[in-house]
Amino acid sequence: MSETPASPRAGKRRPLVVGNWKMNGSSASNEALLAALKAASFGDAEVSVCVPAVYLHDVADALHGGAVHWGAQDCSSHDSGAYTGEISAAMLAEFGCCHVIVGHSERRALHGESDRLVAEKAAAALKHGLVPIVCVGETLAEREAGQTEAVVGRQLGAAIELLDKRIDGVVIAYEPVWAIGTGKTASPAEAQAVHAFLRKTLAVAGAASASLRILYGGSVKADNAAQLFAEPDIDGGLIGGASLKAADFIAICRAAG
Ligand code: PEP
Repeated sequence: MSETPASPRAGKRRPLVVGNWKMNGSSASNEALLAALKAASFGDAEVSVCVPAVYLHDVADALHGGAVHWGAQDCSSHDSGAYTGEISAAMLAEFGCCHVIVGHSERRALHGESDRLVAEKAAAALKHGLVPIVCVGETLAEREAGQTEAVVGRQLGAAIELLDKRIDGVVIAYEPVWAIGTGKTASPAEAQAVHAFLRKTLAVAGAASASLRILYGGSVKADNAAQLFAEPDIDGGLIGGASLKAADFIAICRAAG
């Protein structure tokens, strides 16, 4: 379980940068990437990599004893049972996972995951001592229709409703769907506006909104990370493509720290 010690840079919130490897990697290529991450320093930033579950054993071996945490990209909402192909949060905890991404837009779109299911996955993660990274974000059509706040408010609202006070144990990731893997990043001002809305939504619900971390994700690169992370409500990033290249990911982590 990760802590959130006081950060001199971000008020009460320590910056967090999480790599989402998606369905990428191989035993051979992971070795060099993990060795580079283990040897790197990141200033004040907390760093984690969410990897395909089959690599968790190797990742735990490679990163053990270092500063970088690790985690998974999804978990079941169930504890155990007849759910072929699923992996429970308890199993992830056995492999030393600190974080688990839930509700990534690729899972919402490609696997039909509902807001309620995402909230149930977050609850399962918390129950087993993992920090769920709850992803929210609008499509391009929704943004153009002026529905961004309604969409992310609904997605976050489902987690707040189910988790109640436990919401304070999650990390939120704002990932506009139109910015993921497209090379189109939200401008710092566009991202900040949504982050501020999410923080206000958390505050209205009685959550510890001042200490909850809200990450930005969507085509973050070494050359745009610092401007995004400088925004007052952006507490770090969820990084896809750029997390597969050691030099790029380390530069992004340093931009947060
Ligand atoms: C992601 O997969 O969560 C993501 C943000 O991807 P990318 O950085 O490649 O846009």
